[in-house]
Amino acid sequence: MKLTVLGRYGPYPAAGGACSGYLLEASGYRILIDCGNGVLSRLQHYLQPWELEAVLLSHLHFDHTADLMVLRYALDYARSSARLRQPLPLHAPPEPAAEFKRLPYKDLFETVPLAAGEDLFLGPFALSFVETVHSLPCLAMRIETEKGVLVYSGDTEHFDGLAGFAAGADLFLCEANFQEKESVPAPANHLSAAGAARIARRAGVKRLLLTHLHPGLPPALSLEEARVHFQAAELAEEGESYLVSR
Ligand SMILES: [Zn+2]
Repeated sequence: MKLTVLGRYGPYPAAGGACSGYLLEASGYRILIDCGNGVLSRLQHYLQPWELEAVLLSHLHFDHTADLMVLRYALDYARSSARLRQPLPLHAPPEPAAEFKRLPYKDLFETVPLAAGEDLFLGPFALSFVETVHSLPCLAMRIETEKGVLVYSGDTEHFDGLAGFAAGADLFLCEANFQEKESVPAPANHLSAAGAARIARRAGVKRLLLTHLHPGLPPALSLEEARVHFQAAELAEEGESYLVSR
């Protein structure tokens, strides 16, 4: 499977950057994970939005959902010009209910509630979910194909189950919104780069990609902090694609 990073920032983008958004492709099947501000623009470097098979949201914070509010206009255009033939499946946690209710638009999306502990099969992808520790209900995702395993942390502070959930992943895409020395005591709701790296080491993953970077903190310092604990750490780079394979 191929992961393309469309946006790597939160809770707001750096100049010229975008918030969370990841394009996943395998066997010609393409899904979008999270759709923060700036993602729709970046997505069109790779495909038209109506060519997606599904969209998944880790949670309903705006830095993961904002561009859905304009993706609806692209889909509306696609339907009126006969490019979109059926509603786009949109999988998301159903809480907060008021935010979940805002997602549908006309009949352009097929909204499907996502829950921890449930298995989801989309084309070549087998997905499982665990609830993270965040200020809104949020799901980390383990995404497997025959050729590799990707684990995406969503937004979370440290919790013991995350290393087990990520165990043995070929690529661990993990949020690192803070730097440890900037946040004493440990930050609520998010991980530091060092915290992400310690989880990667415990989980025995092959590669760690640091994402959900805070635009106010120098990325190079996040990387340096992570590599103290896990040498195979990298920064998620916008516009880069990563092959996830054993
Ligand atoms: Zn969040």
